[in-house]
Amino acid sequence: MYPPEFDYYRPGDVSEAIDLLSGGGRVLSGGQSLLTELKARQTDPGRLIDVGRLESLSGIDAGSEGVRIGATTTYAECVDSAGVREAIPVFAAAAEHVGDPQVRNRGTVGGNLAQADPEGDLPPAALAADATVHVAGPDGERTIPADDLFEGENRTALESEELVTELVLPAHDAGGYARRIHPASGYAMVSAAVVFDVESEAVAGARVAAGGAVERPIRLAGVEKTIEGTPVADLAGNGFPTEIGNALDRAGDEVDDELPYGDRHASASHRRELLPAYVERAIENAIDGTGSAEGGESR
Ligand SMILES: Cc1cc2nc3c(=O)[nH]c(=O)nc-3n(C[C@H](O)[C@H](O)[C@H](O)COP(=O)(O)OP(=O)(O)OC[C@H]3O[C@@H](n4cnc5c(N)ncnc54)[C@H](O)[C@@H]3O)c2cc1C
Repeated sequence: MYPPEFDYYRPGDVSEAIDLLSGGGRVLSGGQSLLTELKARQTDPGRLIDVGRLESLSGIDAGSEGVRIGATTTYAECVDSAGVREAIPVFAAAAEHVGDPQVRNRGTVGGNLAQADPEGDLPPAALAADATVHVAGPDGERTIPADDLFEGENRTALESEELVTELVLPAHDAGGYARRIHPASGYAMVSAAVVFDVESEAVAGARVAAGGAVERPIRLAGVEKTIEGTPVADLAGNGFPTEIGNALDRAGDEVDDELPYGDRHASASHRRELLPAYVERAIENAIDGTGSAEGGESR
């Protein structure tokens, strides 16, 4: 398939990119979603503004308080970063699962969040990690908390003339990610991201997010509430305390209140049924420090 014709622009800096965007068109970053859409003729933007090589938007700045990740930083760079793995393990674990090595070498953090694919790996991880997205547009700069960024399938709070510039994530003590791989696409049919801090050997400030089973990633408030205050030792294998098991069983109910997501490969109800098992695995991965796990056939 050939894409429709388009004018191609490669701005030299962010302000030029914003000026170009004001004239219409779409941002091109890693191209791992947009080029597919163009070739499938699902979109015809007429103009592509390629920010993929803007050095000011690339790079990782990791410290003990947290991590700043430039929008055009690739998944592979996140996975390879010791600072990302240590300070925000949930994000490293999610990035590690994206696509295949080619996709991880080209696809970018900003592109993944802007794409807001219901089966994308970074949206639930960003939500669980309490990320803040920095954005530049014709009216200046603003920040969007991950809690407010995702609005539905491929829909975000970004305006069409805005550019994601970077992502800022506070450090967490423990983070885990788990997903059920989609047998046809390799995307996450169901995913769960878990982040918490530890105080006095008990869980403090848990954030638990689910993806794949919903049009946009959501926080699982019931699970979060039940985990908080639990001694870490009670989550370290040999089954969870009964009240946490019950909260996991009810995770699907929290999806029902939102926008359940399914496709011809896996219905919304099937994904809902799978969710508790993957939330459980994500919690276990956070506790044992392995960060991640994947179920299903690998491709
Ligand atoms: C074979 C294959 C397998 C894949 N598997 C997975 C997977 O398992 N998990 C997963 O999460 N993803 C997967 N993907 C998608 C991949 O992660 C894409 O990289 C991602 O969805 C988009 O990032 P990108 O940098 O490639 O963005 P692009 O494709 O360049 O852009 C995607 C969208 O985001 C917008 N955009 C890009 N950058 C910005 C920015 N800085 N500011 C504002 N808007 C911006 C574009 O205008 C476009 O609408 C897969 C892709 C392929 C081809």
